[in-house]
Amino acid sequence: MACRVLQKGVTRITQAYSNKHKAVDLGRSHLTGEPVVAHSGGTVVFCQTGQKNNQNATGNASYGNCVKLDHGDGYATLYAHLAKVNVKNGDKVKQGQVIGTMGNTGRSFGMHLHFEVRKMEQRIDPTPYLEADLPLNKRHVTYKAYTNRWLPEVTDCQDADTDGYAGIRGQRMSALMAKPTHGVLRYRVHLLKEKRWLPWVIDNVDYAGNYGQAIDAVQMHLTGDEGYEVQYRVAAVNVSRWYGWCTGLTDKTGDGYAGVFGKPIDRIQIKIVRRR
Ligand SMILES: [Zn+2]
Repeated sequence: MACRVLQKGVTRITQAYSNKHKAVDLGRSHLTGEPVVAHSGGTVVFCQTGQKNNQNATGNASYGNCVKLDHGDGYATLYAHLAKVNVKNGDKVKQGQVIGTMGNTGRSFGMHLHFEVRKMEQRIDPTPYLEADLPLNKRHVTYKAYTNRWLPEVTDCQDADTDGYAGIRGQRMSALMAKPTHGVLRYRVHLLKEKRWLPWVIDNVDYAGNYGQAIDAVQMHLTGDEGYEVQYRVAAVNVSRWYGWCTGLTDKTGDGYAGVFGKPIDRIQIKIVRRR
């Protein structure tokens, strides 16, 4: 298996997560001085040094030399029994940065890394995160489409498969509502028959569209969520392929839009992504 908190990658779990051991122990006993790296970017909020092996240790001393990183959004990771600590309290660290070396300090019975993931200070199972990002700053956008009624709301997020959509294949969409978890989403729709854009609307305060009038284009842009932007695409009635993804406008007067004038839209997908 791979594991991103050990620089050399391949390792094994010597003790799994359980109610009695709310962490995973990662071992590679034939190696000494194995670099331990930050799981994710964050700030050092606890740093304990000068500890020796002490199999009777209790409390924080049982962790031996130890580093805890705060990653924001209520998540922290903790690295215990380190031989050496390379960071100090308050340091900002990047994902993959060496924060210490694997050791056998504190209440430890052999060289290993004791790795905890905490969510709001609850020690959750780290196993799903050994190779994956923490669910930090997840952006979602919820949206729904109107055909002859409001259809169920759809939620999309940056790392989900984007196979969900709002709308019904073959049915003309005439209104749209959307709201992101972060920032403000501004959007407007273009009326097919009247060949004009309706006014911009914000979040789900109002809807964009006129009931009963087919729309053939959509424009969206996201503000107030630095580093993120909206991406959206539409499909048209009797057109089998989705049109290309559009990126949110940085300027709401920009001329990018999803759709083709004259082709009634039946489906839309929206997601919030990190700005490139
Ligand atoms: Zn452990």
